[in-house]
Amino acid sequence: MKLLVVASPLGPLGSGAGGGVELTLANLVVGLLQRGHGLTVLAAEGSVLPPDAAAADLWTCPGTPQASLQHQPREAPITIAADGLLPRLWRRVLAEGPAAGFDAVLNLSADWLPFWLTPTAPLPIFHLVSMGSVQAALDREIAELARWDQRRLAFHSRSQAADFDLPAAPVVVGNGFDLQAYRFCPQSEPLLGWVGRVAPEKGLEDAAAVAASLGLPLAVWGLREDPAYAAAVEASVPAGTLQWRGFLPTAELQAQLGPCRALLNTPKWNEAYGNVVVEALACGVPVVAYRRGGPGELVQPGITGELVEPDDRDALAEAVGRVERIERAACRRWVEQHASRAVLAERLEAWLQAGLEPQ
Ligand code: UDP
Repeated sequence: MKLLVVASPLGPLGSGAGGGVELTLANLVVGLLQRGHGLTVLAAEGSVLPPDAAAADLWTCPGTPQASLQHQPREAPITIAADGLLPRLWRRVLAEGPAAGFDAVLNLSADWLPFWLTPTAPLPIFHLVSMGSVQAALDREIAELARWDQRRLAFHSRSQAADFDLPAAPVVVGNGFDLQAYRFCPQSEPLLGWVGRVAPEKGLEDAAAVAASLGLPLAVWGLREDPAYAAAVEASVPAGTLQWRGFLPTAELQAQLGPCRALLNTPKWNEAYGNVVVEALACGVPVVAYRRGGPGELVQPGITGELVEPDDRDALAEAVGRVERIERAACRRWVEQHASRAVLAERLEAWLQAGLEPQ
């Protein structure tokens, strides 16, 4: 197939502004290239694709990034800046897509506009939905699209899909990672890890409190999306508890993450998947998470980590005390079997091909 992949309008690929969608895009592009498909990526100006995606074409557009939906009230109206990146990306899809001969467009942006225009677009648009429910107007559009042809929708996890009003069972594709990019680290150090955008929906304050109660340092990797929130979390625990390591490229992130005794994953929202959970497992780091959203489906309690009741910090601390019994090699094995890039590409290919069949 000849495919056009449209990135999130939150910022350039490689900046971290798009959160997990940036890594998802890189992995699915390489996975589909390896299966012999032709790929073009349409993304914000300033985007960079990883070296192993060099065979993909990159189209870019200027424009003001879209504000992230999860930081707006649920009932907020749709807002798009006058020189917005979102409409510019989709203008280009509609104007140039048909003549370029794409078999399908794969949208990775969880924004109202591409869902709304799908039924009348001059080429088939598919959506890999990257978030659970965050905005009423988007929920309604997704439900409407599902009623029109649900084959155009896929989700990362069952819990994520359950947020939406769907007439049929959802297509769930999980996610896929380049195992070679993560080195297995057999030994751990007395250090806890936390990875994610530093923003309230990610619940860093709970991981910080648990690290403080256990007297262990917590290394934090990720974009400081909300500096006031980051400062408040820092002030809530004894000095020295948090080690801010910044937003790092995957190669450095995995090298620093590998020696952690456990990754704490403490989302306050219905996390659609939780890339960082699988990245930690790929390094051999067990994950202690809330039983909520994607992480609640990914972590196998007693085998690759522990799951505790959402928002229960005491249970989280107690579970961290039990991670020594987790075999680090079992964590890596789980990723190899369930979340490789090849597995994702096969699932995506099957989904797209089924959706292109006449109804
Ligand atoms: N990430 C990274 N470097 C860092 C910290 C995070 O590349 O130093 C990436 C990480 O690999 C993951 C993404 O940030 O792909 C966070 O994605 P996740 O699915 O956990 O959450 P989201 O931000 O999409 O809500």
